[in-house]
Amino acid sequence: DLELIGIDKGFRGRQVLRQVSLAVQPGEFIAVLGPSGSGKSTLLKIAAGFEQPDSGSVRLQGEDVTTVPPYRRNINTVFQNYALFPHMTVFDNIAYGLRRKKVPAAEVKQRVAEALALVGLASFGPRQPETLSGGEQQRIALARALVNRPAVLLLDEPLSALDLKIRRRMQGELKRIHEEVGTTFLCVTHDQEEAVVLADRITVMRDGGLEQVGTAREIYDRPATPFVADFVGEMN
Ligand code: ATP
Ligand code: MG
Repeated sequence: DLELIGIDKGFRGRQVLRQVSLAVQPGEFIAVLGPSGSGKSTLLKIAAGFEQPDSGSVRLQGEDVTTVPPYRRNINTVFQNYALFPHMTVFDNIAYGLRRKKVPAAEVKQRVAEALALVGLASFGPRQPETLSGGEQQRIALARALVNRPAVLLLDEPLSALDLKIRRRMQGELKRIHEEVGTTFLCVTHDQEEAVVLADRITVMRDGGLEQVGTAREIYDRPATPFVADFVGEMN
């Protein structure tokens, strides 16, 4: 489905990603763990098309999308601050991308309604973003990212702005939504518990490289390197 092949990326001579390769299965949920500065967000930006790799390629359903601009990729993103457009209703926020693609009004209406139902906020269409709680805004951001049915959704610390209680509830929501839509999720998180609860496989990054990719069980029971053992051990 989504394949990252031999990605290298540097900024002003500093190597930030080194030979990153990762094959994500269709419908899989992958969590990306790793210390601050290890290159997690850069990897997501390259997968999304917001940054170009120095070498290597991103393949989606077999096609090299490295040169395809972000808006034409069948990939959407949700970032930590999930900025909704403040002067638009929830409905218009979710409808924005569909309208830009000239989807007919009746279909926009139906698909926005489906997306709102998916995130459990069916009646929220007329609301203004500023009247929503953090968890509700996050769910609207998810609805907006899923309404055009991307093959892949990239999430960069989507829940980290939420307080712990809401975050735990949203984890369950995220899992349910992932199971319901069948979209491939690649999710950066600082929260190991989140990774264990949500992900089919976890990858641990260090200094721009993938130290290990495996199930939670494999990572915890058979860490591939002392770094992984230390990193996941800290919170055990
Ligand atoms: P965090 O957990 O803190 O979000 P991260 O793993 O997401 O960290 P990145 O944001 O990918 O880390 O950054 C990796 C390294 O690349 C950092 O040292 C950062 O300073 C550097 N970097 C990222 N983007 C740029 C840029 N546009 N120009 C220069 N350096 C950059
Ligand atoms: Mg980051």
